[in-house]
Amino acid sequence: MIIAIDGPAASGKGTLGKRLAHHYGYRHLDTGVIYRAVAHTLMEAGADLNDEALAVAAALELDPERFGNPVLKTQKVGDAASVVSAFPRVREALVSFQRQFAADPPGAVLDGRDIGTVICPDADVKIFVIADPRVRAQRRTLEARSRGEDADEDAVLADILKRDERDQNRSTAPLRAAPDAHTLDNSYLDIEAGVRAAIAIVEAVRAKR
Ligand code: C5P
Repeated sequence: MIIAIDGPAASGKGTLGKRLAHHYGYRHLDTGVIYRAVAHTLMEAGADLNDEALAVAAALELDPERFGNPVLKTQKVGDAASVVSAFPRVREALVSFQRQFAADPPGAVLDGRDIGTVICPDADVKIFVIADPRVRAQRRTLEARSRGEDADEDAVLADILKRDERDQNRSTAPLRAAPDAHTLDNSYLDIEAGVRAAIAIVEAVRAKR
């Protein structure tokens, strides 16, 4: 079974996917990390983030060993990821890695922005996670502070809105719910309740089969 989790509510989303995968004994891929890793390669090289050829080269040389680098979680790298991810050729270069991950047994949970629409349009269950941007800003600020980063909630909110706008309006694989996706609003759910709600969606879909 393939479970696709998409949506703008990135904060906590990685944890939701991971928890859901754990519940079902599936593997989990937070695809945001892939775009973050590509962006980080350019940042490390001091390159211009708008250099499409370099971004494509970084995507083709993707090294999953680097996904665990904590710097990838920072706001700065997340912003840069949203710039490089808008290049169609960067996205193309990353498709087969994601599809292969999804296809390997016993099943997988992938979360990102275009899993249910582009990467795995035939996913068994699609969940589109949304949350009030103010709540997301609060969560991200707390997360950043817990990592020891300086974070101002208003600046984080402005950044979230800018990034959503960019993700939703890019020409290739814009962020939007697949027609057969189930929306999960986790504005007022803590992680436990969010996981329960996601499991309930998966079970409801399975029961209908
Ligand atoms: O989810 P996360 O915050 O890690 O994603 C960082 C950025 O990577 C997103 O803002 C988006 O621009 C890009 N992304 C994407 N497609 C995905 C996952 C992430 O374009 N499947």
